[in-house]
Amino acid sequence: MPWVTDIHPEKTELDSCVQCGLCLPVCPTFRLTGRETASPRGRLQAMSAVDQGVAVVDETFARIIDFCLGCRACEPVCPGLVPYGRTLEGARAEIDAQLPDRERQLSFLLGRVVPSRRLLDLATGLLRLAQSVGLIRLVPARMRRMVGGVRSLWGRGRATLGHAGGSGVSGSVGLLVGCVQDEWFRPVNRAAVTLLELAGHRVEAPVAQTCCGALAAHAGKSEIAARLAERNVSALSGYDQVVATAAGCSAHLAGYAHWGGASLAGRAVDVTVMVSEAIRSGRLPQVDGDRGPIAVQDPCHLRHAQRVTREPRRILEAAGYEVVEIDPAGMCCGAAGLYTMLQPEASSRLGAQKAAQVRTTGLTRVASANPGCEMQLRTHLGDDYEIAHPIEWYLRALQSGG
Ligand code: SF4
Ligand code: SF4
Repeated sequence: MPWVTDIHPEKTELDSCVQCGLCLPVCPTFRLTGRETASPRGRLQAMSAVDQGVAVVDETFARIIDFCLGCRACEPVCPGLVPYGRTLEGARAEIDAQLPDRERQLSFLLGRVVPSRRLLDLATGLLRLAQSVGLIRLVPARMRRMVGGVRSLWGRGRATLGHAGGSGVSGSVGLLVGCVQDEWFRPVNRAAVTLLELAGHRVEAPVAQTCCGALAAHAGKSEIAARLAERNVSALSGYDQVVATAAGCSAHLAGYAHWGGASLAGRAVDVTVMVSEAIRSGRLPQVDGDRGPIAVQDPCHLRHAQRVTREPRRILEAAGYEVVEIDPAGMCCGAAGLYTMLQPEASSRLGAQKAAQVRTTGLTRVASANPGCEMQLRTHLGDDYEIAHPIEWYLRALQSGG
């Protein structure tokens, strides 16, 4: 048996690829390299070779799979409806199980630090201290690359965890505050609480919740991902909807059925969908005034994984902004969870491309609905650009002119 886990890529999933190649032009890693093994089709063929027993899970296989961003741009164009993101998680779980000496430290980071509010607070405090006294160079380079863009963000505002409020006339919401999202991008969670309560929801952020597990699942740490999912399914039961403010988290919650959380998956929704629907139905207002143009960037886990594109634009338009597109193809910015740390060169090239697309517009205001994308944009655009979540832009407009 070439596979050893029970979440390995399934033969039926792999056989649904008809090898048409339609996915190649939309795949960022294929476009960067031109290599078949850096394309969705090539990666699926590598998985099929293992499945058929003509190849094994070794370093060569791992390198092919490692280089994938997990952006899922290959899914919407695929006539075979290959569940590529699912097979990728399965392949990564196999690599982790069969080559256990690789990326050992990630197990500690994703299994102990990220899900623990106390350790995440401590790690954030140390990083802030290192930045403020100029000792950030002592932080390992991989970590430094990832946090480079959040210097001015972390630790702002009141805690979201434990919050409970709102009338509930529009139903109840369990807010998944996220790990990095709540630690470094808390104003997005505070904006979600304010807007959802204004729209008539009862909003609670139960303290028993933890990291959604997306980072662990994408890194092949399947036991950690399953453990975190189990905790969230219990903590977020009983709410009409479960809302996440980071596109990567909402996409992962929507796929919880693969992690034993089907009961939660059906209630999971991204905050942009909730706020957009509240605006559409008149529970949140159109804000008066013309606020000028703003560039919009689509996170892959909103655009490709959840097929959500209209909602962030509707929110910005309702706030009085003129939406300016930067990339009709929706190419990945290269952040992709831990990709910045694990594949720095490719990540940096994609980040530079995305920054160039923003610069071409001549605008310095950007809307992005995912913390990883925001960090990547901050790293590549610098401090002269103002980047925020669409619901933050909307709330600002509401507070200043509504
Ligand atoms: S588009 Fe789908 S069916 Fe065609 S090669 Fe890519 S993964 Fe296979
Ligand atoms: S997930 Fe993204 S990088 Fe990976 S194969 Fe699909 S399009 Fe390419």
